[in-house]
Amino acid sequence: MSDIIQLLPDHVANQIAAGEVVQRPASVVKELLENAIDAGATNIKLLLKDAGKTLIQVIDDGKGMSATDARMCFERHATSKIQKAEDLFNLCTKGFRGEALASIAAIAHVELKTKEDNEELGSSIKIEGSKIVSQDFVSTSKGTSLAVKNLFYNIPARRNFLKSDTVETRHIVDEFQRVALAHPNISFLLHHNNNEVYHLKSSNLRKRIVAVFGSKMNEKLVPIDEQTDILNIEGFVAKPEFSKRKRGEQFFFVNDRFIKSSYLNHAVVNAFDGLLEQGAHPSYFLYLKVPANTIDINIHPTKTEIKFDNEKALYAMLRATVKHSLGQYNVAPVLDFNRDATLDTPYDFNAKQKSTSVPKISIDPNFNPFKEEEPKKNNFPFKREKQTDSWESLYTSTTVSHKENNQELFNNQEEVKTQKTFQIQRKYLLSSIKSGVVLINQSLAHQRVLYESFLESITVKEANSQQLLFPVKISFSSAEIEMIYTIKTELENAGFSFDEFTKDSVTIKGIPVSVTESKITIILEELLSDIDLEVPDASFSYFDIMAKSFAKTLSIKTGTLLSEKEQEGLVNDLFSCKEPTISPFGKSTFKTLTLNEIDNLFNN
Ligand code: ADP
Ligand code: MG
Repeated sequence: MSDIIQLLPDHVANQIAAGEVVQRPASVVKELLENAIDAGATNIKLLLKDAGKTLIQVIDDGKGMSATDARMCFERHATSKIQKAEDLFNLCTKGFRGEALASIAAIAHVELKTKEDNEELGSSIKIEGSKIVSQDFVSTSKGTSLAVKNLFYNIPARRNFLKSDTVETRHIVDEFQRVALAHPNISFLLHHNNNEVYHLKSSNLRKRIVAVFGSKMNEKLVPIDEQTDILNIEGFVAKPEFSKRKRGEQFFFVNDRFIKSSYLNHAVVNAFDGLLEQGAHPSYFLYLKVPANTIDINIHPTKTEIKFDNEKALYAMLRATVKHSLGQYNVAPVLDFNRDATLDTPYDFNAKQKSTSVPKISIDPNFNPFKEEEPKKNNFPFKREKQTDSWESLYTSTTVSHKENNQELFNNQEEVKTQKTFQIQRKYLLSSIKSGVVLINQSLAHQRVLYESFLESITVKEANSQQLLFPVKISFSSAEIEMIYTIKTELENAGFSFDEFTKDSVTIKGIPVSVTESKITIILEELLSDIDLEVPDASFSYFDIMAKSFAKTLSIKTGTLLSEKEQEGLVNDLFSCKEPTISPFGKSTFKTLTLNEIDNLFNN
């Protein structure tokens, strides 16, 4: 047989590389902005037309290129930033792979103008699909202008795959913000279709964050500052009460490079322990500086993921530093998200009444601090199918064995029949039992109930699903879509049904009965981030993570007022569980106080 293996021509190899480096206009923006920064620019302009589909142009006042370099920079593996493999472990530039310009030039019309400071004339090069169309000397100002036109003009499949201008612009703005936040001392301009979108002047970190996210950001920021031998941390976290329902304003920069790290994110979230409502995501802007030789950036083509030598130590330090700052800035007392002003009224009311220095007090004569409020609708989304409606039935004998065990706690049916539950501070349920009292944490108890119910439906595959009148289309990143697709069967078992999957959206036409339509996005987002944070081990199962995640997201929260019926229903459901004593996350769901223990309280 004859030999059949050949080396690919450069332009083909470049197009293949482009597939990795350039997914969309935003990828080009990122590469060009980073090149401008590496060139030492202090002013960078980004001009766009049609969400970058028609034009992406970056103009900088950096060091420029010589005529030869202007030609060389489009070659594959052409870089001025590293020379030998060891340099990879001591990087202080954004780029180093030398493939961005080669890739971009393979799939677009590119025009480069560049001039070094000490030269009279600069160079201009036009290149289309890796072919040089022209090269001239031109008079131009110091620095580099790179215009990328008609992206993917020669790969229709990729071009057609681009999303609407709104979506592509959003991606570009994300990249722009990341770069702008990493370099507050550089001034940035962003124009889209000749409209100015951002004009960020050279400033400090705090001002840059405020300039990017708006003036309301200023009051939210808590400064972070810690210097150690292996790590410097600077930046800000937003006060817990400004946390977001969606992950969004979360930024880690390591040595001035924006990176994604669910591990470090976990450290920050952990530092907020107890300060965040469930399902809320803290905003943060954290700038980590580590010795360049302790990280590996070359593990991902877009360089947004890096490997740390010292991951565990960083985690611990980051967590401690954020925690410390939250405490120091007295943020910790602002705990209660669901704090309802009316709860405070009785005390306020009394204080005013006693006051003599303020003679005129207007008091609402109808105000009754002890009046029962109407429970909010929908705050108790879950109804167990086999739930017995009446409180009494919990204490009548039943055929289910674990139920009987749980009921040993309540050892006299007749007596308990007349018992009521009481809600304390919208957090605990108190109930009297034969031997004393039981205090139930409503949120943790509900987590247990939901967890067992979901686990059962996921594993026995007979979940009750409700069809949506109008299917809901939800956008996710492509990685998230991939994950949803991976666990599609499990989600279907739980009661979801799907219509269409695209690269960055999914259409949902059915949901579990215990889920309300408004919660679809949040429970899926939470599930994805829980899966993300899970460290897989031998016992790793999506079933369990899913049931835990749903239980956490959907459980009634501290601060929710429950009607008497709901309280009883919850207690009833809890003690019908297989393991009523602990929440799915291992916390006690209730405590009992025996009569003896109560007596002892008064024996002094
Ligand atoms: P990398 O950034 O990984 O080195 P690129 O393909 O992005 O690879 O760029 C190739 C080279 O072109 C860079 O190493 C740099 O020397 C030069 N270059 C690119 N953009 C600029 C710029 N805006 N100003 C000066 N030099 C640039
Ligand atoms: Mg580069």
